[in-house]
Amino acid sequence: MKEFKWVWSLMRKYRLIFFTALGLVFAVNLLNMINPYVQGMIVDRVIVDGQIGILLTLVLIMVGNTILRAVLRYIYLYMFEHVSQNVVFNARRDVFRKIQELDFDFFDRTKTGDIMARMTGDLEAVRHFTAYVMYSLFMHTVTLILVLVILFTINTTFTLILLAITPITGILAVKLSSVVKPAFSAIREQFSKLNSVVQENISGNRVVKAFAQEEYEIYKFSRENAGFRDCNIRAAKIWEKYLPVMDAVAGLLSVIIILAGGILVITENITLGELVTFSSFLWALNNPMRMIGWLINDTQRFATSAEKVMMLLSREPKIKSREGAITRKPEGRVEFRNVYFGYGKKPVLEDINFCAYPGQTVAVVGPTGSGKSTLISLISRFYDCSRGTVLIDGKNVKDYDLKALRESIAVAMQDIFLFSETIEGNIAYGAPDVPVEKVCWAAEMAGAHGFITEFPEGYDTIIGERGVGLSGGQKQRIALARALVKQSSIIILDDTTSSVDIETEHRIQQNLREFCKDKTTFIIAHRISSVKHADLILVLEEGRIVERGTHSELLALKGRYYNTFVNQYGDFDKMGSD
Ligand code: ADP
Repeated sequence: MKEFKWVWSLMRKYRLIFFTALGLVFAVNLLNMINPYVQGMIVDRVIVDGQIGILLTLVLIMVGNTILRAVLRYIYLYMFEHVSQNVVFNARRDVFRKIQELDFDFFDRTKTGDIMARMTGDLEAVRHFTAYVMYSLFMHTVTLILVLVILFTINTTFTLILLAITPITGILAVKLSSVVKPAFSAIREQFSKLNSVVQENISGNRVVKAFAQEEYEIYKFSRENAGFRDCNIRAAKIWEKYLPVMDAVAGLLSVIIILAGGILVITENITLGELVTFSSFLWALNNPMRMIGWLINDTQRFATSAEKVMMLLSREPKIKSREGAITRKPEGRVEFRNVYFGYGKKPVLEDINFCAYPGQTVAVVGPTGSGKSTLISLISRFYDCSRGTVLIDGKNVKDYDLKALRESIAVAMQDIFLFSETIEGNIAYGAPDVPVEKVCWAAEMAGAHGFITEFPEGYDTIIGERGVGLSGGQKQRIALARALVKQSSIIILDDTTSSVDIETEHRIQQNLREFCKDKTTFIIAHRISSVKHADLILVLEEGRIVERGTHSELLALKGRYYNTFVNQYGDFDKMGSD
């Protein structure tokens, strides 16, 4: 029921059009009743009574009626399409907005394919319901009622005889819809699997080629493709069994009409014209009965799809702004106080304490999986810590308005994503209004200006999907420029120069030191050369800070940091004094 309420609310602005269209459906239904009636008159008055004079009028009535119905039908179909497209437009807009609102936790747990299914197949089921199923249900119900009223008025006995057999079609149709439903669900599920294989294959085409796994991919695809074919064949087999039976019942109706009607005409209970009227109304009894199964099926499909969409819409992000949150942009003092965090039950960060002041650079180092990216993701509230507090300018991050908080933090993430648009558009993503000079400046700072201007189209070069066409180091530098162009007081650079050559990295670092002198900067890096100038280096291991200090302090400790240093450079005396 709540699914219908939802569609009803989406239809708010279009209800008048919807009801006008339903009115037209009703009018067409009434007009549908005229031609069979006129046919009966032609038999009784023209053929039997010989009133040839009225034939032309009766034929003109039938032709005019047919044209008028066609015009009205065109208008109401257009109106329903207009309403349904707008309903789906609104639903799609709401779903997309909800996706923007949801947090990392949601995306960690939800497959892209599922979200895409909500946006496409499920919303299509909603559209089909509003554009077709709703009015069809109304139309067939009205047709059935009207035709029964007319037939009962003409002859009760004959109508009762017909009614004894017509429900068989209806019962068969409902039965068919219930047995075919699981088969249709299987088709939809198999279609999702087929789609996922194709989607993954296209996204991962480089891995496929690098590992020469084309044959394996073809095998995976063929398996799902065959599954899809078999599901369709299974469904077809079911309705192939029922359709001939339903046609036979419909055929039987004609026989009964001729047989029973013939007897009633001979016994002079009805006229020949009335028999013609009855047989002309046959479709009006049969059609609704045949359609009811499909319409029930479509309504069920709509209800399932709408429920899934509504479930997505009702999801509340765990991370959101509080009432009366601070909208002022922070200056940038970042403090972690006794912070604990885990994605599930397993702790990922434990007892993290440190403070970073504006103008300082804090570097986080440690083995892969030690929690470095997780630690910095707590500053932007991509996740909330489970215990302890993350503070900015002495206030809990949870007290800041999320938009203001994130606008004041520039992040260059480890997992780089570039949009398939121009390089300029990508760099200016977080600050779309900045002049092009600022974009060039940021690219210069990130060591990207040189290679960008070497492209024939320069900053207007369109980057392929996810940055295809650029090297790893080039992508990193564009991502860095994107972070720098934002006027933020906190800068987070997660493994941003790992694919850049040492010489370029050195240049970028010099630029960054100048740029970040009044900002709070966090750097995650594996190369000692990237972190040795930091004011504070935190060494993480299994989610705990095991060493902290400056480069020289940590070397003097001769602990983990020192070991990493020796592993990378070997020659302590030469590099240590650099
Ligand atoms: P690092 O940046 O030091 O390589 P991460 O912070 O990425 O480490 O990961 C720390 C731990 O948390 C790892 O064990 C990793 O598997 C786990 N982890 C990271 N991201 C997620 C996530 N989104 N969901 C569940 N576990 C995660």
